[in-house]
This record gives sequence, C-alpha cells and structure tokens, in this order.
Amino acid sequence: MKILICNDDGYLAPGIQALAKAMSELGEVTVFAPEGNRSGSSSALTLDKPLTVTKVADHHYYVNGTPADCVHIALTSGLIERPDLVVSGINQGQNLSDDTIYSGTVAAAIEGYMFGVSAIAFSQVQRGWAELDAAAKMAKQIVEKCCQAHNKPFLLNVNIPNVAFDELKAPVVTTLGKRHTSLPVIAQPNRDGESVYWIGPFGEPKDMAEGSDFYAVKHGHVSVTPLQVDLTHGTQLDAFRKILHE
Ligand code: MN
Repeated sequence: MKILICNDDGYLAPGIQALAKAMSELGEVTVFAPEGNRSGSSSALTLDKPLTVTKVADHHYYVNGTPADCVHIALTSGLIERPDLVVSGINQGQNLSDDTIYSGTVAAAIEGYMFGVSAIAFSQVQRGWAELDAAAKMAKQIVEKCCQAHNKPFLLNVNIPNVAFDELKAPVVTTLGKRHTSLPVIAQPNRDGESVYWIGPFGEPKDMAEGSDFYAVKHGHVSVTPLQVDLTHGTQLDAFRKILHE
C-alpha cells in the first residue's frame, strides 16, 4: 500500500513524524507537508505565487504552501506515484465538530478524497504532544482495519484522547457535534496606535449529545466520523424552490 502523509503543523512537527513511522509498518510512505505551521488554513490553495517542493530525503518533501497545496501537488505533479491512501496529522489539538471547517489537517484529507483517494485525518484531543506513540499506534490500527474492510473511497476524521494506549477506549463511530460561535477577536494597538486583531478562541461545545464526537472523546473514546464534502442543505431545498421557482 502506498501512503501519502501530510499535516498542517509543518513537516518537522512531532505528530507527523510519529505518524510516518507508524504508517511505514503498513506500506510505502511519502511525506508531503507544509514547510511551517499552517493550522487553520482549511482547504486554501495558493494561487498568488508559485510553489516550491523541497526534497529533504527519499520520499520526504516539504512545500512552501498549505496542506491542500501539498496534497494537490503530490497527486497531480507526477513527482510520486498515486497513493492508495492519504493520511493527515497527527494534529496537535482536537478537530471536533465545526473545527473540521477550519482545519488544515482535515483539509489535507479532503484534498485526497476529492481526487478519489481514501483519506483519514488524525488529531490528538489535548495539545502538547504527550502520548504520541499511543496515538500513532491507534492510527495504525484504524488504518489497517478500514483499508482492509472498505473498498469505496472514504473520508474519516479521527480524534484520539491524549492518554496512554492502555487507557484509550475503543473507537466509536460518531457524528460531528456543534460549537457555540467563536469568541470575539482580540484587538491590540500596533506601534502606530492602530488596532490589529487576533482571531479569538473557538466557542465551547453546544451540541455534545450521545453519539457525537464531543461525547465520545469526553468519555475517553477514540472518535471516528465519516465525512462528506457536499455542503448542500437538503432540508432547505424545497423551501427555496418555493421562493424562487414560483
Ligand atoms: Mn494544526
């Protein structure tokens, strides 16, 4: 199995190194990852400058772009053979519920999936890189199981609590929860006295019902959410047909 690995924390992040090591036990691994931290870049593609690919070692490249750029180049440049699987992460910090919209980790997986390649995004729930080996071991088990059993292209978002392997509770299949809206931006004066702004923290969980990703990780389980890319709001189709067609 050929496995393409990306992340959004940058190619030197401990999470991608642990993931690449674990995946190398399952197949031929190629790393294509951003040069630096591009967390929160979602599916952005760089269109205003050319991108460079730097080969660090055999099967190991970094790109001066976003996670989506990395996977896009890896899949369309001819630099590497088409992978059987795209694996992204292991991200420092959770990508639960609405985080999936902003996450570069999830976006790298989405980019693979848009090209018809199955893809899995892995994140550790608490920041700090503790128990990374446990998360990588769990990632390996999930990849192994899903790739053997499921042959249609799939897109999974996996969140792993940051605890020792023996303390991890079994993976459960979940839906995305919902957050409250983000907190306001944080304004500061710059040296000229003008206001500059930091994006504020995400909102607290709002819908964390049983069956959701929030609920699973709160109770120590590994959360596995199958995702799709279609944003169509199916239940509003008829309402807007009535408004606009009649
Ligand atoms: Mn990140």
